[in-house]
Amino acid sequence: MFSSTSPARRMAEGAVQACPICGASLKANPRYPDHVCAGCEARTADADGRSVRYHNAAPDHPDLIDSLRASYADGTPYRSETCYIDGVKCRAREAHMGGVVVRPAGKKGPWGSPNP
Ligand SMILES: [Zn+2]
Repeated sequence: MFSSTSPARRMAEGAVQACPICGASLKANPRYPDHVCAGCEARTADADGRSVRYHNAAPDHPDLIDSLRASYADGTPYRSETCYIDGVKCRAREAHMGGVVVRPAGKKGPWGSPNP
């Protein structure tokens, strides 16, 4: 069931991109051309469908690469950047300017290559 989305507002720049999950029109983001919309990001879940929320926190451990954190609704930490939205495997990352960005995991790109 999709919630009704108002027609894409014309941005001053005119450029829009579509959410890869629900197709909602988003302001074009050259850095993250396939990031999901806020509504889809709010539905991230683990492989079993348990809701997971990503957020940023100050790095508190030297082994942590970035400040991305995730937890279940009850506060239990979720230790993976992999998540699912409507059954689509996605990856969450710390956004360039802070915050969290979620993109489909199947895409090749900056995140597509495995870390050594
Ligand atoms: Zn969406």
